[in-house]
Amino acid sequence: ETMNFGLIGLGTMGGALALNIAEHGFPITVYNRTGEVTEHFTANAGELAQRLTPTATLEEFVAAIKPPRAIILMVPAGPVVDAQIDALAPLLGPGDVIIDAGNANYADTERRTCRAGDEEFDFIGIGVSGGEEGARHGPSIMVGGQPGHWQRLGHLFEAISAKYEGVPCAALMGQGGAGHFVKMVHNGIEYADMQMIAEAYSLMRDGMGQDSTRIARVFEQWNRGPLASYLIEISGKVARATDPITGAPMLDVIRDAAGQKGTGRWTAIEAQHLAVPVPVIEAAVAARNISARTDERAKGAEVFGQMPRALPEGALDLETLERALIAGKILCYAQGFEMLSVAAEKFFWDLPMATIARIWRAGCIIRSDMLNDMATALEGAEGESLIHAEPFRSLLQEHEAALRETVIAAMRTGIAVPALSSGLSWFDAMRTRRSSANIIQAQRDFFGAHSFQRLDGVDAPHGPWGDSPLAEG
Ligand code: NDP
Repeated sequence: ETMNFGLIGLGTMGGALALNIAEHGFPITVYNRTGEVTEHFTANAGELAQRLTPTATLEEFVAAIKPPRAIILMVPAGPVVDAQIDALAPLLGPGDVIIDAGNANYADTERRTCRAGDEEFDFIGIGVSGGEEGARHGPSIMVGGQPGHWQRLGHLFEAISAKYEGVPCAALMGQGGAGHFVKMVHNGIEYADMQMIAEAYSLMRDGMGQDSTRIARVFEQWNRGPLASYLIEISGKVARATDPITGAPMLDVIRDAAGQKGTGRWTAIEAQHLAVPVPVIEAAVAARNISARTDERAKGAEVFGQMPRALPEGALDLETLERALIAGKILCYAQGFEMLSVAAEKFFWDLPMATIARIWRAGCIIRSDMLNDMATALEGAEGESLIHAEPFRSLLQEHEAALRETVIAAMRTGIAVPALSSGLSWFDAMRTRRSSANIIQAQRDFFGAHSFQRLDGVDAPHGPWGDSPLAEG
């Protein structure tokens, strides 16, 4: 039985995805709340218009698709998706599938999947990464759902997805919210990757006093080495660009207050729920929040002195900085994959770790060559952290000193490097046999009689805290 396709929501992402689907030979019926958008979209679709069926009402839309239907939603995440499901529900029948392709919170996708369990139709959530360009010419697609859904729809996802050396960047992640969860972690890693690049930029601009053109050249050079990635590539491009209005470098006219739509924050919050440490991602989210506090930053500069200051001559060279970024990137991805494996266990998802790295190699924002090695490493890692899987263990051994040197140089002169430094602290902590948590346990027992375990195994779970408030009572 072949599915027939429809798509609701011809905005930036939906319009691009519909054209991508049509281009791969699938006829598709489209509908948009505002009718003119549909007309304009079809009128500008060129020869692809012959595979598009525009419709003016939701009833007409559903009637125009022969069952069994696969209906893709590309509307804003949140209540709009629920409203759209409510409106579709009475019109659909057995075998029909609603596919939410927006940036839904995975918990909403879990809830909607459960709800659809009482209905005749099915509901699945898929994470689509790559922005408009990806949606149009090949995104990375993280599919949530049952194996049966993949059997019926996998050919569509594979056809429209990006290809890395011919391999489709689309795969089944697991049931329910698994696809949207993996997409969320992807975005958390994206935040962290971008933040570490921003820190390297600050070290070059503020620490070394380099101008945008020089910085662009560095990014371009890094993009030919181990850091080769989409984010490094576009960093070179944005550093290279000139403002058509003033003639100044584009970077010099852009306000330093980062926006966010929330998926990085979701990752940090979920990581806390799962009790899995992802400090680099948390630091990246916090850095965006700090960046938005422009008035407070100005006040701080006035009261305590303006930061950052230039690095002393010769304090840091570009090769060391590149090596620091390589180490930081490995630590950040190790945390992201660790979060995925903890979630897999907690939510009973059989998340395919190596496949996740593989479908991130093209189409999505964090695509990079390093993900190709990560896929291979995770294949044989069997639940072990990426930091212990080759070649990453060796790379960390090789570049750790550069990361430390970079962080020290930044700290000494007041250049904030929250992502790189928290990555390093995490790495240091993860190789500490005897941590300082013994004193935390003693404190907890002192004020709350929470008890502790002794290193010698003797069963004496409380301390001789004579003047503890508990002892007094
Ligand atoms: P747009 O704002 O470009 O488009 C939104 C679409 O949803 C429009 O077709 C709009 O219709 C429709 N819509 C809005 N409100 C309603 C409503 N109340 N009822 C029915 N339809 C409505 O958004 P995007 O295409 O950028 O984003 C869509 C989804 O894709 C979001 O979940 C987003 O997070 C996700 N996403 C976006 C990416 C990006 O780079 N932009 C990347 C990955 C995911 P109308 O014309 O009538 O307003």
